[in-house]
Amino acid sequence: MTTKVNTVTGRLTAEDLGRTLIHEHVMVGFPGWFMDARMPAFHRDEAIARVVDAFQELHGHGVRTVIDPCPMDLGRDVEFIAEVSQKSGVNLICATGVYVESMGIPYTLKDLPIDAIAEGFVKEIEQGVADTGIRCGVIKIATDDGKVTPYERKMLTAAAKAAKITGVPLISHTENCSCGHDQIDIAIGAGLPASSLIVGHSDGRDDHEYQKSLADRGAYVGFDRFGLEMMISDAIRIKNLKALVDCGHKDRVMVSHDTVNCWQGGYNGGDPADLQKSLPNWRMTHLFENIFPELKRMGMTQEDLDHIVIENPRRYFDEAAKAG
Ligand SMILES: [Zn+2]
Repeated sequence: MTTKVNTVTGRLTAEDLGRTLIHEHVMVGFPGWFMDARMPAFHRDEAIARVVDAFQELHGHGVRTVIDPCPMDLGRDVEFIAEVSQKSGVNLICATGVYVESMGIPYTLKDLPIDAIAEGFVKEIEQGVADTGIRCGVIKIATDDGKVTPYERKMLTAAAKAAKITGVPLISHTENCSCGHDQIDIAIGAGLPASSLIVGHSDGRDDHEYQKSLADRGAYVGFDRFGLEMMISDAIRIKNLKALVDCGHKDRVMVSHDTVNCWQGGYNGGDPADLQKSLPNWRMTHLFENIFPELKRMGMTQEDLDHIVIENPRRYFDEAAKAG
């Protein structure tokens, strides 16, 4: 069976994805982003041009595909993503699904039955978002710090159901390296293998045992915030990534930066340009320019790194399709 993957510009086979980053954002706008009038105005054409430049630079590093797991409630704009893909030549995969309750928009879905929520996710995967015809290729799930709220549990259950129906994989947001096992439990409860899930942001604490415990169950472990060094340093991420590979889990490692290439509104009450200035390595090319050379100095080969950015993403889509 040849796995078909939905991108914002059409369908590809999993083999055609090539070198892939699994978690970068074309654009983000937190709920109510337009309500803080002090923040810079949003200019679509200027934003498109800036984001296209960044993706063309990434293309120069051989990256052919990027997953943008922006959930429905963080200013997701699939036509914006499609325009960036067409102009940059990078395949982009967009997401259906929702964010954590505390930072998302729970009002509309929270009282719907699980089947109705799943039906909406399936519609965005099989027919497309609204009437754009742009189909989602992954389902975003998200849990808060140390607890899964009843709303989040409901959304995760609906997402797992939609994944089972469509054969599209799950990609997650976690807070402070917690609740990864709850996410896996819910996926397995819906009849999916743990390999249908990337447990995102699992690099946010210096905790090899946690990372290994996710991989031991078969889930993909997201080392997906390289360059975002306000909570933890890249040196610790590198050490833990290498440790996971050294204990036999090269097949379970996924890498990315969780960059936001364009903001609608502010971030935490501040101008995102200031945030970007304080994080000079938080760019989509950082892995190729700085992190991979360091991993090679520690003994990893180009073959190992290609395995992580080519083979693992291909297998992730293949295995999810088989489980659907
Ligand atoms: Zn993200």
